[in-house]
Amino acid sequence: MIKKCPSHGFFRGETCSCGDAGTIILTDEQTERLGRFISGALRHFPDDLGLAMNQHGWVDVEVLIDATAA
Ligand SMILES: [Zn+2]
Repeated sequence: MIKKCPSHGFFRGETCSCGDAGTIILTDEQTERLGRFISGALRHFPDDLGLAMNQHGWVDVEVLIDATAA
């Protein structure tokens, strides 16, 4: 799962390196589903999300985040 420590930001696992338990941002299932969605979007339907790839196949990460959040 992905959690967030108030002092150090996002981390994976049960506790942050500082020992804080953090708050859950994404469960393992949500992390898996988000990863599958993003990889599918990049491989198969980038145009549907308005993702314009450059000549090397890269997209602007801010555009990707906005498209994923929509
Ligand atoms: Zn921490």
